[in-house]
Amino acid sequence: MHVSNVPATSTPSATVSAAGMPADEARHTWTTEEIEALFELPFNDLLYRAATVHRKHFDPNRVQVSRLLSIKTGRCPEDCKYCSQSAHYGTDVEKEDLAEVETVLAAAKAAKESGATRFCMAAAWRGPAARDFNHVLRMVEGVKALGLETCASLGLLDGDQAHKLKDAGLDYYNHNIDTSPEKYEEVITTRTFENRMETIGHVRDAGLKVCCGGIVGMGEQQIDRARMLQTLANMEMPPESVPINLLIKMKGTPLGDIPDTDPFDFIRTIAVARILMPTSHVRLSAGRMAMSDEMQAMCFFAGANSMFCGERLLTAGNPTVDKDQSLFGRLGLKPEGL
Ligand code: SAM
Ligand code: SF4
Repeated sequence: MHVSNVPATSTPSATVSAAGMPADEARHTWTTEEIEALFELPFNDLLYRAATVHRKHFDPNRVQVSRLLSIKTGRCPEDCKYCSQSAHYGTDVEKEDLAEVETVLAAAKAAKESGATRFCMAAAWRGPAARDFNHVLRMVEGVKALGLETCASLGLLDGDQAHKLKDAGLDYYNHNIDTSPEKYEEVITTRTFENRMETIGHVRDAGLKVCCGGIVGMGEQQIDRARMLQTLANMEMPPESVPINLLIKMKGTPLGDIPDTDPFDFIRTIAVARILMPTSHVRLSAGRMAMSDEMQAMCFFAGANSMFCGERLLTAGNPTVDKDQSLFGRLGLKPEGL
């Protein structure tokens, strides 16, 4: 069992409020006990607390909107149990080789026209091979030149690759830890939690912003959600962007037919992420097709202030731009940066 070098508990910080709960400013010394206590709060109290923290740092009616494009689809050598793109599972995902730069730039232009301010390029790789890497650098340069924020999610990186992405104009690198250090090898066996943390270190050292979060609904326990969020919040610099995905059950994958998760556990995870990382963007990521408008509205209230627009999310569906625009209208929300 991989024992992660992420300490399960750290000494509670001195700034514990009179009620015995930690104060809300950004801290990097959260203990699992404190985080579990947040999860255990009555739902209304947790959401009130998260919403209060949220509006101290953000306009609660603004949501950062990103578009995510798969630039290379399927035939991935990794065995992430949730993923339709893993070559280890018989899924019906349509395999696509690395896209042409022009194709990606056309998608980025369309994303910008539909209100996205960030364009994310994801590839089904363990990590980029040299021959593909330079091709991706051209994509990053082209998307940057369109005036969009750029994000890439290419798997494991070395330090030199991270610096080259930064030089090409990359703003964010997505590299999710997905779950707790303890549960990680139940979900993925072809790499370790430490591999993930090492890449995040290279990304940080290169001066890139970090997009790192995980998945709720893989049969994990509350302690796993707490340890995942603790790992993120206790980083020297927590991720600027924290995607919280609801598992999309992909047919043919080992997690394709596990029991549903209580929606309130998902909303609690958003709220706790908000409290632990008050100045990060918390992203309502995969799984929105399975969420009611009301559930999404509660996530925004609980501090989610980023999302993916566009009806394809890698190999899964996502609400259409029209549907999201109608939801924003009904809730009085506006895209950030517009
Ligand atoms: N291959 C790259 C990697 O794994 O980092 C990028 C691909 S994609 C951006 C990776 C992330 O999407 C995963 O880390 C996971 O958090 C999320 N994801 C993939 N499949 C999912 C599913 N079926 N349900 C929910 N989230 C999923
Ligand atoms: Fe590959 Fe990424 Fe899917 Fe894992 S999540 S199987 S690394 S594409």
